[in-house]
Amino acid sequence: MTGLTPACSMPRPILATVHTDALRHNLQRARECAPDALVWAVVKANAYGHGIERCFDALRSADGFALLDLAEAERIRALDWRGPILLLEGVFEPRDLELCSRLHLWHTVHCTEQIDWLAAHKTLAPHRVFLKLNSGMNRLGFTPNAFRSAWARLNALPQVDEISLMTHFSDADGPRGIAHQVAAFEAATADLPGERTLCNSAALLRHPGEALRGEGVSTLAADWVREGIALYGSAPDFPARSAADWNLQPAMTLASRIIGVQSLQPGDTVGYGSTFTADKAMRIGVVACGYADGYPRHAPNGTPVLVNGVRTRLVGRVSMDMVTVDLSGQDGAGIGSEVVLWGRSSAATVLPVDEVAAAAGTIGYELMCAVAARVPFSS
Ligand SMILES: *Cc1c(COP(=O)(O)O)cnc(C)c1O
Repeated sequence: MTGLTPACSMPRPILATVHTDALRHNLQRARECAPDALVWAVVKANAYGHGIERCFDALRSADGFALLDLAEAERIRALDWRGPILLLEGVFEPRDLELCSRLHLWHTVHCTEQIDWLAAHKTLAPHRVFLKLNSGMNRLGFTPNAFRSAWARLNALPQVDEISLMTHFSDADGPRGIAHQVAAFEAATADLPGERTLCNSAALLRHPGEALRGEGVSTLAADWVREGIALYGSAPDFPARSAADWNLQPAMTLASRIIGVQSLQPGDTVGYGSTFTADKAMRIGVVACGYADGYPRHAPNGTPVLVNGVRTRLVGRVSMDMVTVDLSGQDGAGIGSEVVLWGRSSAATVLPVDEVAAAAGTIGYELMCAVAARVPFSS
């Protein structure tokens, strides 16, 4: 870098920033919630849209990385990570086992075919596997009836080293809770040896006593927790609890700037479909961020946004490259003013991604994963 302003044209003002201090803080929060557990940092979907390479240093004090794309596992090994990597969905076809052998990947086994493939696999180093129980979610895993014979088959294979036991909760974030699945897990695994992993973020935050090794919980030894969304500073159970309630900090800011201003008279409308009508004279700002950047097109009028660190609202429909925001009461705002779509403003005010997601009828996970490739990132 020369320090000179480049002579070439500047990009659009939109920018996604990853806050590595927040990632470190949030990982520390997981340690506080589960002091005796090992923590998988779940970095699937390119670290929930944050970028694996960008997050790696802040998360390298985790005990392992969990993901499901083999190419992402290769990227983590390429960062010289020698510790555990877990493939949460296991292998997708027999030849994937060669990569598991070569890169020492631990992998989930959730169906009979995956055991058949292992039995036919030639490897010098036996694999560490996580046998998955379907304890009621009915997505991946062996039913309680089939679990023991799957375990026995794996246990007899020379290709298999240690067998750990795993399940996944469907309702850790909601009123149904996890007790019924914990009971199914305990019944199916009672006398089997091996490390256990049950909790996602919601279970870790909301039900640590139920699903972690602790006083009065002797049979259920949860050795590993699998933390995803909370690492990135989003509350898994919003709006019941917010990220601030859980003492989580946002790890991503999506920010842009105002590129145009309009002064409206009562009765004037804004944007495609004229979905907003001014009921008074007002100024609006046009922001360089649209659905082609990953901002949700279904965000309605009133969706919160920060202009110069101050909360205001979306007015009019989200278009491909722009959104329009209410500048009432913000006489100082104009071309070039900072707009935070979610995350942390330079005035340190926070707009939780969960609030924007809820307004648009989705969840923070989806918004963070959906930031488009055309948006530049910094950290
Ligand atoms: C994604 C995932 C997690 C992490 O879930 P969060 O809700 O993001 O904490 C844990 N376990 C499995 C099997 C997953 O697929």
